[in-house]
Parts: sequence; structure tokens; C-alpha cells
Amino acid sequence: MALIVQKFGGSSVADKERVMRVANRIVDTYKEGNSVVVAVSAQGDTTDDLIAKAQEINPNASKREMDMLLSTGEQISIALLAMAIESLGYPVVSLTGRQAGIKCDSNYGSAKIDNIQVQRLKNELDSKRIVIVAGFQGINKADDVVTLGRGGSDTTAVALAAALGADVCEIFTDVEGVYTTDPRIVKEAKKLDDISYDEMLELASLGANVLHNRSVEMAKKYNVNLVVRSSFNREPGTVVKEVNSVEKMLVRGVTRDNDVARIALLGIEDAPGEAFKIFSLLAKHGINVDIILQSIGRDTKDISFTVTESNLDKAIKLLEEKKDYIGYHELKQRSDVSKVSIVGAGMVNNPGVAAQMFEALYDAGINIHMISTSEIKVSVLVNSKNAERAVAAIHDKFHLAD
Ligand code: ADP
Ligand code: ASP
Ligand code: MG
Repeated sequence: MALIVQKFGGSSVADKERVMRVANRIVDTYKEGNSVVVAVSAQGDTTDDLIAKAQEINPNASKREMDMLLSTGEQISIALLAMAIESLGYPVVSLTGRQAGIKCDSNYGSAKIDNIQVQRLKNELDSKRIVIVAGFQGINKADDVVTLGRGGSDTTAVALAAALGADVCEIFTDVEGVYTTDPRIVKEAKKLDDISYDEMLELASLGANVLHNRSVEMAKKYNVNLVVRSSFNREPGTVVKEVNSVEKMLVRGVTRDNDVARIALLGIEDAPGEAFKIFSLLAKHGINVDIILQSIGRDTKDISFTVTESNLDKAIKLLEEKKDYIGYHELKQRSDVSKVSIVGAGMVNNPGVAAQMFEALYDAGINIHMISTSEIKVSVLVNSKNAERAVAAIHDKFHLAD
């Protein structure tokens, strides 16, 4: 007998048939004698639909009210899933984030889980109930509902597994596991049997939305036994774990991130302190900067960098307000760019990997705007319209389908 946390994503519970199928699967695990805690997402496109509804009424709605609205999607799913399990004749209880004791910080829209007060959960498990918990939500110190950021139900599941000391955390989704790239972009993409936490964290942070990046961070920190698998069949899926038993692959995966915009500040004085002025200003307002490029200065220099699209307007407004203080001549922006990245723990000792990636892009006639590298990844910025082609070309170049 084990304690098992299972998570079902939005597409896995999108309609009546799928809810029933998920209910049966949960019950199968329970019938084997296991204690089962389930985190579930909002059905299908519910979260997107709720965002659209809010836009119609107030495009500048406060983050607090947005969280109040978005958290309702998951509340619908937990109740429906619990009803489905009741109909199969098994003991079950659904819990909102608050009822499940999920305590978060106050960052509306992208809250972090501080801790989970597990007493209620334990009581329900002791009473032999299947526990269904709303993903993506918790409460903050002010007793307000907060959400964890898009895709955050994965993090709810891993946090539950960590807090309860679960034997395994199974993330059920609409693909069979973690692939060498998004199987919806490249149909030759290959499923990985296992992947290290570090590689998975990079992939998730660089656009592989199969797992929320915070969920991977937390799984690594608390050594959670994490598996990604299909909710539509019984295939074993991909194990995410500490040490990669297979040989360190040069490149494990290719990702694309469309949520990127580039800002360029032209004609900045070539003097100490300029970069500090720009990036401390942005940091003070909570705007994360990713790739940074500075040209070689003569009298003046140019600095360009990327931010997420959602932060673009805010960043532009700040930079325009502080134009005299920073002292640039011209500001340029574009959001029709995407970041394409390769990830692999074996890259660190192989200097030729980046060159091979650039060759793939050259062969495909795709221009690179910016480049950034780390020990286990190389990222390039390209025009969005070329991003899928870039992913396919790179995937092919490294023979990831073989
Ligand atoms: P869920 O609703 O179950 O949380 P998501 O849509 O958040 O599902 O995540 C699953 C999707 O992630 C897949 O349908 C796939 O298109 C996408 N994806 C992106 N990169 C990868 C990858 N490397 N491996 C598997 N899936 C990926
Ligand atoms: N429902 C939320 C979203 O669509 C959370 C999740 O699915 O994980 O982002
Ligand atoms: Mg998801």
C-alpha cells in the first residue's frame, strides 16, 4: 500500500466522458489499496474562457479579482470529479486550496506555495476517502484566493506529494510523457524514458509547458518521485529524477517559447553604470530580463534585451518615463520573436554543440537575432514565424528522433 498523488490536466477532464474515465482510473488506484490524493485542473479551455470574460468587463481588472475568478475553474472540476467517483460508489471528498491547507505568498497571479497544512488532508485519508484537491490555487496571509500562474496545477500536485511524503507523484496529461520536443510541432519527436530534474527544469523554463517549471524545482528540492504519463493509456511515461541513469546526452530536447519580446535602447553613452541604471529600474518594478546583448561602444552603445510579452508594455512605459535619466536616443520594440533552445547536461564539455545548432538554422535559412548560452542550454531569438521550422531543423540536426 502506497500514498499516491495524481494530477489530471485540463484536457484530461475536458468533458463528461473524460471525467468518468479519470474517475475510473483514480478508483483503480484506490482499489489496489493505495491512499490517493488527486490535484485537478479546470476543464478544457475554462481558464482561457474566464480570462476572456474578464477582458470583456474590465481589461485592467485587479490581479486579486482575476484570481478570484480564475480559481473557480478548478472548483468546478473538483466537484464534478468527486461526483463521478461517488457515482462509482467510492468514498471521496473534494477540497478547495483553502480547505486543503495550501498557504501561499501574496503574489496574485503567480503565487508561490509557502507550505501546506496537512491535517485536514491526513484526516480525510485516515477516513479512507479519496481526496480531490483544486489545482492552481491557495490562500495568502490576507485570506484571499491566489493562483500559481498558468500551468500551476502541476505545482499543486508536487507540493501535495512533498508535504504528504507521497511515494509517487503522477502527472497525467494528453501526451505520453516528456518528448525530445513538443510532439505537436514535430511529429517525429521521441518520448524520453527518463530525464534529470535539471534538464527538465531547463526544458520547462524554456517553453516545454508539459510541466510547470516550479513543479520541477519543487520536485528536485524535496526529491519527489515524479512521473509524466498519458491519461488516455497505461504506458509507463517519463520518470523525472535526480541522476540520469542513461548516458549524458548532448542534447535532450528542443523547446520554443513564444512569450518573448525584444527591447532595444540605441545610442546610450559608452560609460560605466548604464546597464545598472536600466536593469535596476526594471528589477525594481518586478520585470525579469532574459537575454541581454550589448554592442561594442565607440561614443555610444546599444543595449537590447528580452522580457515576457506580458511585461512589454510596462517595461516600455518605465523606460520612456526615464528616457532622460538613462539617456538613450531611440527605443525599439518587437514582439514577433520567439526563443528556441536546446537543453542537455552533456553539453558542458562539448564546445561544438552550439555551432551545430547554428548550422541547422543556417541550412534552414533562419536568421538569429540574439544568442545566450549556459552550461546546459543554448538559446537563440528568431522571428516567430520561423520558430516551428527552427525547432524541426534543430531536432533533425541532432538526430533526436533516432
Ligand atoms: P495539461 O492540461 O495536462 O496540464 P498541458 O497542455 O499543460 O497539459 O501540457 C501538455 C502539452 O505540453 C502537450 O500537449 C504538448 O503539446 C506540450 N509540450 C511542449 N513541449 C513538450 C515536450 N517536450 N514533451 C511533451 N509535451 C510537450
Ligand atoms: N487551469 C490553469 C491553467 O489553465 C492551471 C493548470 O491547468 O495547470 O493555466
Ligand atoms: Mg499543464
